[in-house]
Amino acid sequence: MILSGQTALVTGGSRGLGRAIALALAAEGADVVVNYAHRADEAQAVAAEIARLGRRCQAVQADVSDAGAAADLVARALDFLGRLDIVVNNAGITRDNLLLRMKDEDWDAVLATDLTSAFNITRAATKALIRQRSGCIVNISSVVGLTGNAGQANYAAAKAGLIGFTRAVARELGGRGIRVNAIAPGFIESEMTAGLPESVKKDYLTRITLGRFGRPEEVAQAVVFLASPAASYITGQTLVVDGGLI
Ligand code: NAP
Repeated sequence: MILSGQTALVTGGSRGLGRAIALALAAEGADVVVNYAHRADEAQAVAAEIARLGRRCQAVQADVSDAGAAADLVARALDFLGRLDIVVNNAGITRDNLLLRMKDEDWDAVLATDLTSAFNITRAATKALIRQRSGCIVNISSVVGLTGNAGQANYAAAKAGLIGFTRAVARELGGRGIRVNAIAPGFIESEMTAGLPESVKKDYLTRITLGRFGRPEEVAQAVVFLASPAASYITGQTLVVDGGLI
């Protein structure tokens, strides 16, 4: 197991990509704190699944868009895990609308949950990582942050911001032995994409080289790679996991 003895915090780990990431890190030997916002039952089910893998796991509720709640979450994770080797900023939401119809609250909610949350968590975790002189942060961005997408000005801005944040923090913390990378998934099957209109899904399918949507587990394996010693010389990068979306 390539992450034996390591510890991880995964935000938004109750379902979708976050759930798959938490399970994949645990399968490779990491103890995990799984964060969630509302769905306690689903987060507890993930924790139980991780326990069955023989790893320690705690599910912790926190709205990571709130700086105080994010700091408390990091403190609880450090308390439970003893140290923090891997931080995955995965929590995210969408509030899609065309620019002219986008409400202030839709802009604010997406920026807070998809971008400010990563700042909140990373800032809170950094002291411990610096003290350890090691650590790995993975930010879950999106291909939409690289290409833009009509109807997603808020989401694209947040996910592009996350890439800039990744590059800046990688430069700031590299000298302390801390690596910071982003992953830009394409269209992955989850609740976030399940509700999209059939016409949008069909259009995506025609543009995906591999001819199918991605699975959360396929993004999780990219996180495992970036967190592992195999990626020891990789920092400040954005790894695209999109099946060849054109
Ligand atoms: P999802 O199925 O909707 O799950 C979202 C997760 O985020 C849930 O665990 C949810 O917790 C949590 N969450 C939402 N707001 C939160 C908050 N304020 N504080 C803490 N946790 C919060 O979404 P997903 O598809 O797995 O997406 C996960 C990440 O991947 C997101 O950042 C998303 O933007 C990114 N992504 C997804 C795709 C895709 O195609 N699915 C593509 C590119 C990027 P609760 O269960 O408690 O509500």
